[in-house]
Amino acid sequence: MSDKNPRYNRILLKLSGEALAGGQGMGINADVLDKMSLAIAHLRGLDVQVGIVVGGGNLYRGSQLQQEGLVGRVTGDQMGMLATVMNGLAMRDALERRNIKSRLMSALPIGEVTESYSSRNAIRYLKHGEVCIFVAGTGNPFFTTDTAACLRGIEIEANLILKATKVDGVYDKDPSTHADAIKYDYLSFDEVLEQKLGVMDLTAIALLREHNVPLQVFDMNKPNALLNVVMGEEEGTKVGQ
Ligand code: UDP
Repeated sequence: MSDKNPRYNRILLKLSGEALAGGQGMGINADVLDKMSLAIAHLRGLDVQVGIVVGGGNLYRGSQLQQEGLVGRVTGDQMGMLATVMNGLAMRDALERRNIKSRLMSALPIGEVTESYSSRNAIRYLKHGEVCIFVAGTGNPFFTTDTAACLRGIEIEANLILKATKVDGVYDKDPSTHADAIKYDYLSFDEVLEQKLGVMDLTAIALLREHNVPLQVFDMNKPNALLNVVMGEEEGTKVGQ
């Protein structure tokens, strides 16, 4: 593999809160961050430019907070967006422990904690070899970090959006409860939209379809899966193109 060049030279990786929580299901898991930062170090070693969007569902989700009667939806979503900032801070430190230069950029201005998002600055940092971690989602309530990942991916002109999940791709039904679930190797955007497959939310998929940016879903626990995707090898499920 070492004599091959990566197929993609700029990627946007979406890490959900669930992914960051690992086996414990909530909070932030140090081992997951460590493994992820190692995988990203491999990509940087191949000179792949890496943008990351982190979710926040391991800490807070606005819709859930509203359902519990704690706060209204907009406040809940703001709490959810701030949760992504906390995840991003942990991700940045995990990368820096491996001497990977990184930037934390927030859609909501948070003074000294992060710098504010700007696509121009992000592209400049990426070109200088710094990993950009994009937090606070889109900065707006009623959106998800899946949509933020697609938006940022399009803005930074990523060649591919990658979604790290706990399963090895997209299935026609939930593989954890259906033994006969069938995995798709490839799906078009229209198939995902028409069949309402739970790849990403529909706003995110519609955005990718409009801008013709492909998405690949892969198993974050499979060794080298991220590297394989970037090298253009068959892995998980590819959507679009
Ligand atoms: N959120 C938001 N706007 C955004 C992105 C996220 O309001 O653009 C809020 C929303 O409450 C969401 C929470 O942040 O539930 C955490 O994001 P998400 O649920 O997408 O995280 P993930 O499922 O990836 O862990």
